Amino acid sequence: MGPISVFDMLKIGIGPSSSHTLGPWRAIQRWKAEFGALGAIEKLQVDLYGSLALTGKGHCTDTAICLALLGYDPATVPVEEITVLMEQLRDGKRVALTSDRRIAFDPARDIIFRMSERLPGHANGMTIRAVIDGAEHASNWYSIGGGFVQREGESLDTVADVVLPHPTTTAEELLAHCRAHDFRIADMVWANEAAWRSQQESRDRVMAIWHTMRDCMYRGCTTRGTLPGGLHVKRRAADLHERLVPDDMTPGRTAEKWVSQLCRRTIRFKEVMNWVSCFALAVNEENAALGRVVTAPTNGASGVIPAVLMYFVCFVEQDVRDQDIADFLFVAAEIGTLFKKRATISAAAGGCQAEVGVSSAMAAAALTEAQGGTVEQALMAAEIAMEHHLGLTCDPVQGLVQIPCIERNSMGALKAINAAELALAGNPAEARVSLDDVIKTMDETARGMSDRYKETSEGGLAVNISVRVPEC
Ligand code: SF4
Repeated sequence: MGPISVFDMLKIGIGPSSSHTLGPWRAIQRWKAEFGALGAIEKLQVDLYGSLALTGKGHCTDTAICLALLGYDPATVPVEEITVLMEQLRDGKRVALTSDRRIAFDPARDIIFRMSERLPGHANGMTIRAVIDGAEHASNWYSIGGGFVQREGESLDTVADVVLPHPTTTAEELLAHCRAHDFRIADMVWANEAAWRSQQESRDRVMAIWHTMRDCMYRGCTTRGTLPGGLHVKRRAADLHERLVPDDMTPGRTAEKWVSQLCRRTIRFKEVMNWVSCFALAVNEENAALGRVVTAPTNGASGVIPAVLMYFVCFVEQDVRDQDIADFLFVAAEIGTLFKKRATISAAAGGCQAEVGVSSAMAAAALTEAQGGTVEQALMAAEIAMEHHLGLTCDPVQGLVQIPCIERNSMGALKAINAAELALAGNPAEARVSLDDVIKTMDETARGMSDRYKETSEGGLAVNISVRVPEC
């Protein structure tokens, strides 16, 4: 697999799912770029297979395909207009593939959920069929986790567009680079990212990522209501936030003021724990409501890294600088690339250990280095965090990224903090399990898991939940 940038692992987009929303969206965008110019497209149909078919409705795969066909990008689509845009498409049944060409497209007829079929390359498969100048063109696409897409027959190696000064595929290689150059992990990542773009551009992009995370937490902490999808899950972050906010604090009207108010508080362990949960719940409630989030490394797990970073900013260090925040996100992303290269970040391939487990490992390493831990301790923290997520299943109730996903992010964040503290207090030379060992184990566990527990909603909580679901 070719090099992976920080900005491949951390991406601004919308909820609820990176593999089921962002991936299909990107596949349609790439398909449009290739085929849109070929000639007159007369007919278009998208077939969904495997996990994309089984949980695609709950994960808004059809909405993502429609918005991509309408020409929107996940990073910039006006989230508050999505409902209206979809209503207009359902009524008008036409999309504009180019500025001068509109074709008939009825989402109810032209997006087909093939529940009992799978494509050979990955559990998240889709076929885009178009009739162009009278001839049918069909191409298979795979959403391979975290918003990455792969066209059938395409090697991931072909996407390598740069030569990195410090390429890493394993934690051992990462450690060797850091020892050879006396780097922290963040130093190594900054050096690698310079192969793609200027330092200033990287700085601007990573701060945009942080601001999106921060704004998302603020929105989630101040928005009440019920989540869409029919499960009628009540949003909890705002109630928890109200209970946690001290009597003498009126939350600022902007996310920036809100963060600076929180930074000035001294609070006890129990309150810190509740705040971390509150931050994670806030992000994942926004994600479930198709809000603007950062994929980190997936949407289902998008609350873990912001919650741990916010914990660091508000409750650990005084006067955290932008550089510290950028370094934190760079370290987190680098750890995520190791899992992507050696195992998976796709729940359809590896269950929730590949989503919340990986995000917890990413956050644990970042928090450890941010608190002055050595490279060895940061890798140890990532190992501990993943070790205790091994085998975690993906079983979203009704295919919605709500139960167990929202709470699970709070668990992943708290485990990351605990893992960082254990590593900071520990001696990596005495550790008996390395990060590479645990990544290999996670990969083997993923391969051995039943498909029922890999984002199909055919097992686990998805079939055993005993709460009564109200009528829609
Ligand atoms: S259970 Fe985990 S992996 Fe599955 S959709 Fe929810 S957050 Fe993602």
